[in-house]
Amino acid sequence: MNSLRNCCISQGSVIINTKVLQTGEIIEIVGDLLVAADDCLSSIRQKYLPEFKLRYSGYCAWRGVLDFSEIEDSETITGIKKAYPDLGKCLYFDLASGTHSVLYELLNKKLNRLWYVNQPEPEAKGTSVTTKVTSDMIQKMHQAAEKVWIPELAKVMKETKEPFLNFIYDSDPLEKIFYDNVVFVGDAAHPTTPHCPRSTNMAILDASVLGKCIEKWEISYMEEYQFIRLPVTSKQVLRVRRLGRIKQGLVLPDRDPFDPKSAREEDCQELLQRNTPFFNI
Ligand SMILES: Cc1cc2nc3c(=O)[nH]c(=O)nc-3n(C[C@H](O)[C@H](O)[C@H](O)COP(=O)(O)OP(=O)(O)OC[C@H]3O[C@@H](n4cnc5c(N)ncnc54)[C@H](O)[C@@H]3O)c2cc1C
Repeated sequence: MNSLRNCCISQGSVIINTKVLQTGEIIEIVGDLLVAADDCLSSIRQKYLPEFKLRYSGYCAWRGVLDFSEIEDSETITGIKKAYPDLGKCLYFDLASGTHSVLYELLNKKLNRLWYVNQPEPEAKGTSVTTKVTSDMIQKMHQAAEKVWIPELAKVMKETKEPFLNFIYDSDPLEKIFYDNVVFVGDAAHPTTPHCPRSTNMAILDASVLGKCIEKWEISYMEEYQFIRLPVTSKQVLRVRRLGRIKQGLVLPDRDPFDPKSAREEDCQELLQRNTPFFNI
C-alpha cells in the first residue's frame, strides 16, 4: 500500500512520489494519468486549487457501530428491534427539533448509528474530518440522547463502544474536475454532506463514466467525463446540502427553519430521498 506524497507533470507524463507504507521507502512512479480519489481533503486537488476551502456544514455526526452478535437476546436489542421493526430492511431517519439521527443494521449483527448535532466549526481541522472524543464528551452525549431520543435508541447509543465525532463538510461545486493529466473522482471531485445515502454511488458512477470515456481513448476523454458528471454531481451536492440544513433546523433563505413537531405535509414532502436530482441513475 502506498501513500502519495506529491505529483508533477513533465513532458505529458504524471510523476508521483509515493511512500510504500510497508517499508517506508519513497518511490517514483511515472504514468499517463493520475486519478485523484483521495477523499474530501484531497491533497492532489489542493495542489491544483490552493485557494480551495471546504465549507463546514454547521454540524457534526456522533458515529458508532454496536456489535450485537453476543447480546442478541439483551433488552437493548429486543427493545430496539421492537421500536424499529424494519431494521435490516431499511435505513431509519429520526427527526427531532434541530437534529436528526440515522439507524440501520449492517451485516454480521451490527447496528450503525449516526446522530447529527449542530455545533461551531472545530478549530483543529485540515488533516482529518474525524476526531477522538473524551469520556466527558461521551457522557454528555449520552445524557443529551436521553432527552432527545426514545429510550430504546438512547440505550443503543449508550452501549455503542468507542463512538467518535465526524465533522461534516462539503464544498460549492468545482468548475473543473480535471487539470493536465489529473482527474478527480468521488469526494475529491465533489465533497458532499451525507444525507441522501448516495455519495459512494456518486464515486462509483464517476469511476464508471471515467472508465468508459478512457476506453474510447479519444483526446477529449477528460472533457467528456467532466461534461457528463459535473452537472449531475453539482446538483446533487447542493440538494444534499439543503436537505441537511432542513433536517438540522438550520436557516435557509427561502423557508422557515424546519421543526418536525410543527411541520406541514408539504415541508415533509421536501425531505423525500426521491427529490434528489438524477435519483434514478
Ligand atoms: C457521516 C457520514 C455518513 C455517510 N453515509 C453514507 C451513506 O450512507 N451512503 C453513502 O453512499 N455514502 C455515505 N457517506 C459518504 C461516503 O463515505 C463517501 O462519499 C465515499 O466514501 C467517497 O468515496 P471516495 O472513494 O471518494 O473516498 P474515500 O472512501 O474517503 O476513499 C479515499 C481513500 O483515499 C485514501 N487517501 C487519501 N489521501 C491519500 C494519499 N495521499 N495517498 C494514498 N491514499 C490516500 C484514503 O485513505 C481513503 O482510503 C457518508 C459520509 C459521512 C461523513
